[in-house]
Amino acid sequence: MLLVNYLTFEGFKGISTFSSSHDAAQRVQRDALNMLYRNNSGSLLVNLCVSLALVFGFVDNPEKFSKYIWLAGMSLVFIMRYLDMRHWQLNLQDHKYEPAKPMRRFAIGRYFTAAGLSLYSVWFFHSMDVIELASTVVIMSALAGGASTTLAANKWLAMSYAGVLLLPLSAISLFGDEQYQNTLGLLGLVFTFVMYSSAKRACQFTTESILVKNQHADLLIQMAAKNQEVVEANTNLESKVKQRAKKIFELSNIDPLTKLFNRKAFLKNLHGLLHEAEEKQQDLALLFIDLDGFKGVNDVHGHAIGDKVLIAISQRLIGQAHNHASLCRWGGDEFLIALENRTAVEAREFSTSLIKFLSQPIRLEEKLLNLGATIGIAMYPEHSANEIELIELADTAMYAQKQSKKSDVSVFNSTMRDALNREAKLKEGLREALTHEQFYLVYQPVVDSRNLQVNFCEALLRWELDGELISPAEFIPIAEQNGLMYEMGSWVLRQACLEASQWEFDDKVSLSVNVSVLQLVYSDIVAVVKSALEQSGLAAHNLHLEITESIFAEDLKRVIKQIKTLQLLGVKVSVDDFGTGFSSLSLLQRLSADVVKVDRSFVASLNKGGKAIIQATQYIAKELGYSIVVEGVETEQQARVLMAMGVNSLQGFFFAKPMRKTELASWHKQHLKGRMDTLN
Ligand code: C2E
Ligand code: MG
Ligand code: MG
Repeated sequence: MLLVNYLTFEGFKGISTFSSSHDAAQRVQRDALNMLYRNNSGSLLVNLCVSLALVFGFVDNPEKFSKYIWLAGMSLVFIMRYLDMRHWQLNLQDHKYEPAKPMRRFAIGRYFTAAGLSLYSVWFFHSMDVIELASTVVIMSALAGGASTTLAANKWLAMSYAGVLLLPLSAISLFGDEQYQNTLGLLGLVFTFVMYSSAKRACQFTTESILVKNQHADLLIQMAAKNQEVVEANTNLESKVKQRAKKIFELSNIDPLTKLFNRKAFLKNLHGLLHEAEEKQQDLALLFIDLDGFKGVNDVHGHAIGDKVLIAISQRLIGQAHNHASLCRWGGDEFLIALENRTAVEAREFSTSLIKFLSQPIRLEEKLLNLGATIGIAMYPEHSANEIELIELADTAMYAQKQSKKSDVSVFNSTMRDALNREAKLKEGLREALTHEQFYLVYQPVVDSRNLQVNFCEALLRWELDGELISPAEFIPIAEQNGLMYEMGSWVLRQACLEASQWEFDDKVSLSVNVSVLQLVYSDIVAVVKSALEQSGLAAHNLHLEITESIFAEDLKRVIKQIKTLQLLGVKVSVDDFGTGFSSLSLLQRLSADVVKVDRSFVASLNKGGKAIIQATQYIAKELGYSIVVEGVETEQQARVLMAMGVNSLQGFFFAKPMRKTELASWHKQHLKGRMDTLN
């Protein structure tokens, strides 16, 4: 059994060199065994025919009966081999079976056949005549020859088969009494060795073929596995690339807070929508939505709540916009919606109901917050075919609407376009004016109500564009919005200080200069003031800076700090246009200004409640230690009333209109005297 074990797959040790896997080795062994079994039916038939021929072919042999017994034994071997072959055909050949056992069975079957035939030649040697012996030697040699190729898939079986079959007969013949027996014995012996070496070569060839075939198959499997790996790696890479692309897309296209599209993405989407609208010849309405009261929420409840409000508003907008791509957060509390195939009337209706929807209270952490929204609409193609311009126009419409009435909707119109064109013209002109020093200053005296002496003169900026005198009330906001205020304001300060130092008044007349909120918040105004004073030689206590109440809406801490530093220099601070802006008495208290200038609207409405407000301001100013100036005194009657009320200082056309530096001295000498006479 050990021998059989050894013989079963000898010759296939090489498989380990190309494949370390047990599977690969078994595959090679199965291939060899399959080859052996495929040749088996032919060899079984040949063996049966040979056996029958040996028994029934030589009728003169006296051992007939013994031959029958032998044939019966051989038949048993053949039946066993047949059954084994059928078992392989039915149960194994197309399966991935364990090859060791069937190989053993096969080898045993073939050895029994060889041994049986060999037994025949030895058993009946003495009863054979010369013809039968010669025929038997030829038959055995032919069988050995055939087996050297049909058994080539099993090295040891193939090489030993001829030996088992021929050696006993050759040996017995070689030592036989007759000459012909010796000759046949010798022939048999030689043939055995020839068959041995031919079987060896055939085995080598077959073994190599099987190995190469399997190496090939193995490589194919390895290649398939590698391919699979590559496919998997690619799939992984693809999904990673997809994820990464998604992340990058989100980072560059999605607003991280609201998850709505951001500016960049929306502009791209809008470009596409406009293109579509052009192809379909349809209208498109662009809605610019700005929340009302959002700043208040941020200031009062903090930015975390502000963020939640923006998220809640975004959710509401998502529910209203029909297409997610046509909605974006433009920035801060501004949102855009593009409505495809809508007329201006339809867009207005949509906006009105959207405002109602957005204005519903928002419940956040036990708080009920009320906000509104103002919407501006611009139409494609009526107003513009360009996405950026369309947004600007909708913004303009929204802004115009906010100026007149918040939480309502406005469609862009020609008046707005004119205003826009004028704004663009002024913007351009302002840049020119700055570089070419086209500005000049006028001064309006502010008089003491007791003796009508000039307390100070307010410097007011003047600008003429193409012969038209543009009001500072118009161009200053444009300068502020376009980042020109810092440069412009610094020029005013330097120029006013310089001119004031050359005034031909007595020393007591101070200079008052208007300062924009932006100068106080975003620029180093202290340094500018210092250098203006140094260059002009004007005393710090002779300089007033007028700040408007809108200052309170800005970065108050910084404003207060700047004001305190300026006051430490000796500069005085006035709160301008008091009563019109974001007045807050507590802030007025914190600011500790020197002068409060009451807005001229209260003088104009002196008999309709204005007087009461001026009196109240007087009272507060007195308590807080401020001096009070009332602006916009246009008539003698107004002047008399205000003087009787005990207002500290008065300013207005009744006393003097703003004038050039050169006119100040003569006005001071002549006109003031006349007014005094009138009043006395
Ligand atoms: P403001 O500081 O309140 O200046 C007073 C404005 O009222 C001046 O208008 C002045 O001409 C006008 N006014 C004076 N008395 C009367 C009167 O009796 N009746 C009427 N109806 N108006 C009177 P102006 O010069 O057009 O300036 C408008 C605003 O522009 C100023 O208001 C000020 O806020 C701003 N402004 C002017 N110059 C500058 C500047 O150099 N810098 C800054 N930041 N703002 C300036
Ligand atoms: Mg002023
Ligand atoms: Mg004023």
